[in-house]
Amino acid sequence: MSIVVLQLPDVKRKSETRPEKCRYCQGETFQRWGKVGKPVRDSRCRKVQVYRYRCCHCRRTFRYYPQGVDRADQTQRLRKLAVIYWVLGMSLRGVGMALGPFGVKLSHMSVWRDLQEQANLLEKQRHWKPVRVLGVDGVYPLVKGKKRSVLIAVDLGDGRPVAIGQVDESNPQAVRRWLEPLVKRLGVSVIVTDDLASFRSVAEKLGLEHQVCQFHVRRWVGRTLHELRETVPKEWQWVLDEIKGLLNELPLEGSRRLFELWKQIPERRTGQGQPLSPLSQLRALLIRLSEHWPTYRVFDWDKDVPWTNNGTEQAIGRMKMRSRTVRGYKSWPGMRAGLMLSGSGVA
Ligand SMILES: [Zn+2]
Repeated sequence: MSIVVLQLPDVKRKSETRPEKCRYCQGETFQRWGKVGKPVRDSRCRKVQVYRYRCCHCRRTFRYYPQGVDRADQTQRLRKLAVIYWVLGMSLRGVGMALGPFGVKLSHMSVWRDLQEQANLLEKQRHWKPVRVLGVDGVYPLVKGKKRSVLIAVDLGDGRPVAIGQVDESNPQAVRRWLEPLVKRLGVSVIVTDDLASFRSVAEKLGLEHQVCQFHVRRWVGRTLHELRETVPKEWQWVLDEIKGLLNELPLEGSRRLFELWKQIPERRTGQGQPLSPLSQLRALLIRLSEHWPTYRVFDWDKDVPWTNNGTEQAIGRMKMRSRTVRGYKSWPGMRAGLMLSGSGVA
């Protein structure tokens, strides 16, 4: 469960300070140039006082808003409150209704715009915060009834999403185009993913350490061993047991041991177009595991790296919970905003 920190911006009825710099010319001296009452939508106040100032340097005038107020008619506090209600599980209309007792009328479209704004802010904040270990995983949500391929990158240090993109996870070029600028900007040194070849090739090309989620590996290797159990000759069944033991223990020397086993099993060529014999399938499994071994155990020597991609899946789980209550997103920007906010639990 993520922790929702309720930090609502303060709203002042009038400014207690003077502007420091002119927004046009950076001038630093001003004359007060009248005041206006500005009606606002807020949970506590209806109207604030806004002073106008004239810059003594460029002579232009501008409004200087009190804390928590800007050009929008909703205060910053109300905008944040609407987003928090939504992230906690209310529908867009429900948020409007919940604010009714505060004397605020807010349409579901206004709430929607507040969500977009908050998601953009969040993404900007995430933009430059360094991330050392990045979890990446794909999801396939429906947008307007069409299935989309979406990649989600999560900071495994704090469990929050840092980027969401429409990328086909099985296409190495596409994954690289999306991941490379992210990795460079955030200073990522390790990625955690499932056992897809595209992630493997991108990690190699970008010079990243790569931890492959051991839940995924155990799942597919378990299935393969189960099938081989039926077909591999009796005198080689002990190899299946040994593979299983090695995966449970993940010892440093596992790669070499798997390679030795691979050498021990006789190679029999089958004709072209013939299916692989059970022993050839076993050899293929051994060499694959032996080659991939280092990517199974980065967590063993780097304490910041988890041995599964569970952290990423948890962040994604929070997003799916939200999308169930929203009943399908109507657009990609809408979905992005929704996923980003719900996965973050709002700051
Ligand atoms: Zn000026």
